Amino acid sequence: MYEPEKAAGFDFQLLRVKLETGIRLPPMQDMYSNIAVFADNAATSGHPDWISQSPLGPARMGNSNFNIYWDVVCATQPEHRAEQLDYIEDVGRRSLGVWLNSQYFADNGHCTCPRCKELWKKSGLSWLEWRRKEVTDYISQVRERVKKELVMCVQPDPVTACERYGVDFDDLAKYADAFNVVMFSKSYATPWYWEMLARAFKKLLKKPVYISLYVFGPGDNAKDVPSASELLSVSVRCARTGIDGILYLANGDSKLGDFQKEAVDKVELRQSLKSYGGQPVQEVLDLVKSWEKIVE
Ligand SMILES: [Zn+2]
Repeated sequence: MYEPEKAAGFDFQLLRVKLETGIRLPPMQDMYSNIAVFADNAATSGHPDWISQSPLGPARMGNSNFNIYWDVVCATQPEHRAEQLDYIEDVGRRSLGVWLNSQYFADNGHCTCPRCKELWKKSGLSWLEWRRKEVTDYISQVRERVKKELVMCVQPDPVTACERYGVDFDDLAKYADAFNVVMFSKSYATPWYWEMLARAFKKLLKKPVYISLYVFGPGDNAKDVPSASELLSVSVRCARTGIDGILYLANGDSKLGDFQKEAVDKVELRQSLKSYGGQPVQEVLDLVKSWEKIVE
């Protein structure tokens, strides 16, 4: 959720308290908190020299060599790291737990700033091993600060997370209570691919696995976003891979309410999806059934 609003009919609520823009919202006592760590336009606008560097240019919004829609701070920037540790600890204290995203290097080849080159040289490790160690060490520091649930959000890339981000799933599993695979898309027209990703992550990750699906983001029009039919189908097909939960991204509770109402109205689809799998599928469909009492 982008707003501190709680939608009825879900097991728990996650609020995006710090966005990639750097905008921060006060945490809510009865919601979990999502924090974008190194993706932070506010930090880089005050400190342009903090932007992560690479042979294909900086991790700046608009560098089309990477899928970067915001500025990303170098993952070894000491002041940003320290400030984020304090912030994460504070948010953890004031909410149910902390879900981190962008807690790793910007992408392939990052970061080649003078500090990173120096740190790498001193480490005696290979480039990829050094990056992995930097990310893992930082997450171990975060773990010491968060006394409640700590969840690692990861990009939907089950194969080259280490090469791209310095993320080693087994390393992070030592510190994480769960993972959340961010599977945002404005269309789920071909659920097969998403199901395959969910299956791959469920096999790889040594902690419970959530996935996140896209319902309605800030600035979207109704025609830009996935249909309720697509969301129902992809939810069921990912659920049958054995994942442990599904989050739905929306910018406010009314948008989730619209989705719930449309999902409830898909009576024929709900009926046909019953044959898609065992207990996990029934749980999704039972949840949708429980929404019948919530929607008007
Ligand atoms: Zn750097």
